[in-house]
Amino acid sequence: MRFPKLCDYRKTMAQNRRKTRQVTVGDERVGIVKIGGDAPVAVQTMTAGYTYEIDTCVAEIQRLAAAGADVVRVAVPEKKDTEALRQIIPQVTVPIVADVHFHFKRALEAIEAGVHKIRLNPGNIGDEKQVAEVIDACKERHLPIRVGVNEGSIVERRDKQKRQSELAGVFGNDRHGNLLAIMIAKLEEYLEIFYQRDFYDIVISAKSPDPNLVIRAYTEISKRFDHPLHLGVTHAGPRETAIVRSVVPLGHLLASGIGDTIRISYANDPALEVEDALEMLYCLELRERKGVDLIACPTCGRIQVDLFTLVQQVRKRLEEIELPIKVAVMGCIVNGPGEAEGADVAVFAGDRRGIIYVQGEKVANVPEEEILDALFAECEKFQAKVQAGQAKLGEKTVEITVPQDDATPLTVKGE
Ligand code: SF4
Repeated sequence: MRFPKLCDYRKTMAQNRRKTRQVTVGDERVGIVKIGGDAPVAVQTMTAGYTYEIDTCVAEIQRLAAAGADVVRVAVPEKKDTEALRQIIPQVTVPIVADVHFHFKRALEAIEAGVHKIRLNPGNIGDEKQVAEVIDACKERHLPIRVGVNEGSIVERRDKQKRQSELAGVFGNDRHGNLLAIMIAKLEEYLEIFYQRDFYDIVISAKSPDPNLVIRAYTEISKRFDHPLHLGVTHAGPRETAIVRSVVPLGHLLASGIGDTIRISYANDPALEVEDALEMLYCLELRERKGVDLIACPTCGRIQVDLFTLVQQVRKRLEEIELPIKVAVMGCIVNGPGEAEGADVAVFAGDRRGIIYVQGEKVANVPEEEILDALFAECEKFQAKVQAGQAKLGEKTVEITVPQDDATPLTVKGE
């Protein structure tokens, strides 16, 4: 049989990555994160607590950094927040962005306090003189600025007449098209202030709660500007639904080569945003995976163990493994081997027992209650072998022949 020639999707995706003008965030003490150019896609999140509660804020920032956030943003609505930054920044180990709305002075105060990046909203800080002051202060300290033209704040709110005429366009036939036109026009107008001051350390975002608008907005903006793009779906909702609302447009854009840094937003613990953003980047092979790559079968009528509980236990237990070992937890040995192909370590359950394979070699056959410990022990042993140079990740795949001589081949028996 002749097979059609297929493109290498992963290679195409890497080659297609849009080249952007790189900016750097951070310093030697907290670490320098590059955004754009050939840098890996950076993960951001935002603290949920009050910035002026210094100890709690430091603890939250450090928890988010430990979860894998490359950059953490904090809100600075009041002077007490920017004052708190003076004490917060020396205590944290990740670059900090000040999220500024309405009061340009908060940006100047945050810069004085040692913040690593500023986020400005053209929808509520538009006065050219004020913007210029912030730009000059950032330029002096080599700090980048994110310009966020979010859907919610881009349409005029203070001038009622202007707002009405803008909305008249928005509610025309192509709602997205009109909103997009406003976003791009405002962005061009705003960025002109930056270019006039010879300032190019800019990151752009154009968020919306509407996933289709997010795709369209970033696609259009990527054609017009070479600044790095900060992707996000704003006000996405509770994690249970927001995960799909976010990953669909962000995954689409990233797979098309668009996006240099991302934030997933949940009405939930921001550490979960980081966890899911990283998993998306691992899946797209845009970041090198840290920790185990776990796959598991969905179970079916052949199952003979409590696989759902087992998978959750395995997930928790294997958090201690540092290497990106591919681990498969399969409900039976009939379809399991095919589905677990490519796994370094695999367990196939059945008849209240589990058979464990390491790179195709059977290493254990244990009762159900011992599966977790045995699997962890095999993963630890395999990790040590890889670290000692005696084995390679993904080198050999699971190769198991389904037993033919057994009248009930679904059954994994003790030996
Ligand atoms: S691995 Fe076995 S139990 Fe799991 S879904 Fe496939 S056939 Fe069903």
